[in-house]
Amino acid sequence: MFNILQEAGRLICPYRCLLCRKRLAERYICHSCRPPERSGICEYNCIVCFTSTNELDVSERCNLCALFPLPYSRVRYLWNYSDANVASFITSMKYAPSPALLRYACKHLALALPYYFGSCEWDALVPMPIARQHFRERGFDHCFQIAKTLKRCCSFVSTTPIISSALTHRGYKYAQASLPHGERIKNVRYSFKCASLVKELKVLLIDDVITTGATLHFAAQALLDAGAQTVDVLALAKAPVWQEMRAELYMRSTKANGCRFG
Ligand SMILES: [Zn+2]
Ligand SMILES: [Zn+2]
Repeated sequence: MFNILQEAGRLICPYRCLLCRKRLAERYICHSCRPPERSGICEYNCIVCFTSTNELDVSERCNLCALFPLPYSRVRYLWNYSDANVASFITSMKYAPSPALLRYACKHLALALPYYFGSCEWDALVPMPIARQHFRERGFDHCFQIAKTLKRCCSFVSTTPIISSALTHRGYKYAQASLPHGERIKNVRYSFKCASLVKELKVLLIDDVITTGATLHFAAQALLDAGAQTVDVLALAKAPVWQEMRAELYMRSTKANGCRFG
């Protein structure tokens, strides 16, 4: 009986692809809009930046991580942003959000988490804060929503608290998207303020897309400066330009701090 009612309900109100709105026999995303499978673990993945390479040093780091160390301990991402379906999925999530899109992304993150990190022992989930002007424009803090949905979808972090007040975004002088990649580093350098709430905590920082990596770099550094014990990063996607910017990002950030990252 229930099945008959369900079938009748589907005739009146069919499932539609969350992205292109095409009618579907089952839920969520049609074949042509679907993001690919998650970035897999290859034979050799850098333990820090997750790049697949056949040249790792004795501490299992790639050449880039050896030359230009990152402030965070490990970064993992689900997809490559260069894939058109990934880019359109994330744009929809940011500008036309729906709980169903969030659930779709977080179910994939939840499945990947133990493969990506092995042990999932964090004391806090910290969403990447959104600049106030972006929040006003969108009315939605997507990284906070990702953290909230991930907690619901993933048993490994279901009891880990979200500390959304740990990091505050001071706002950008110029809109990041309006600047060339090199200028974005300067623009974001002093954007974050971090509360001492994270002192001695192992933090999982949650982000949507790693583009130049500048936002992530300075947010992670702010958490460490405030006393966080370790910072791992989980993102939905990374853009290819991130690897190209690593040297410049490292040079500029060490010059700003007057020290080297470990
Ligand atoms: Zn579609
Ligand atoms: Zn690396």
